[in-house]
Amino acid sequence: SEKPLRIPQWLRVKLPESRNFSSTADLIDDLNLNTVCQSAKCPNKWECFSKNVATFLIMGNVCTRNCAFCNIISGDLEQLDPTEPARVAEAARRLALKHVVITSVTRDDLPDGGAAHFAATIRAVKEVLSNCTVEVLTPDFQGDEAALTTVLNARPDVINHNLETVPSLYDTIRPQANYQQSLDFLSNAKRIAPDIPTKSGIMVGLGETDEQIMRVLDDLASIACDIVTIGQYMQPSRQHPLVKRYVEPEKFEEYAKEGKQRGIRHMFSAPLVRSSYNAADFV
Ligand code: SF4
Ligand code: SF4
Repeated sequence: SEKPLRIPQWLRVKLPESRNFSSTADLIDDLNLNTVCQSAKCPNKWECFSKNVATFLIMGNVCTRNCAFCNIISGDLEQLDPTEPARVAEAARRLALKHVVITSVTRDDLPDGGAAHFAATIRAVKEVLSNCTVEVLTPDFQGDEAALTTVLNARPDVINHNLETVPSLYDTIRPQANYQQSLDFLSNAKRIAPDIPTKSGIMVGLGETDEQIMRVLDDLASIACDIVTIGQYMQPSRQHPLVKRYVEPEKFEEYAKEGKQRGIRHMFSAPLVRSSYNAADFV
């Protein structure tokens, strides 16, 4: 069987000494919330928590889908908790966040995919922190435009939906999703609420070619996507797909240039870029 590639130097993250880290983690535990930072073993956890930035994962930490790259488990789903929007808002208030990222597991079991719960969470945060910007990173709602509209009507400052990978890898990496449906999601968002910036992202190192990445950039430019993130896929555990290549930092810079040439306004492309990394910097 294949052996894992050696992790290159540029991906080794130093763990800073920070008191802020444990206080953020404690607060999140206290309020019984989930963060992607913790559930997805994000490599930027130390840095983001030290800066009081976190991405909240709403609607439980069990998913109806089973994407190969993802560390979130599928299984028995949790009941939606109507107190969750207020608890997220309370955490945002106590952490004095300026930018909150709200994401969720995919809840194909719910009639609206959880859109109303997303909307309630956006409104709760905005009510408590009127100057706080809110970014939502949502599932595809199985193409349900009414669900997308529900979320947009709550006026998030950014609507983010990740393509995650190139179309030819969907079958293995993102089997319950559909590339075109995800692309349509982003173009629908632009049509329904043209003033809300759209955002998407992919991981590299899953077996895609650079040429395929360029075609994804063409697609995102063609639907006027405003913000694109590209980061290195890292294997969350041995049960997950192996990293097929480690893309060099210079190459990431090239991707960013290519995206900008195509008209994408904000390109965030570097090995450790994650969908929500430094999100506060571009709204
Ligand atoms: Fe959390 Fe996003 Fe930062 Fe990772 S990049 S630690 S998920 S806020
Ligand atoms: Fe993970 Fe999202 Fe896929 Fe669920 S839908 S397995 S949370 S990436």
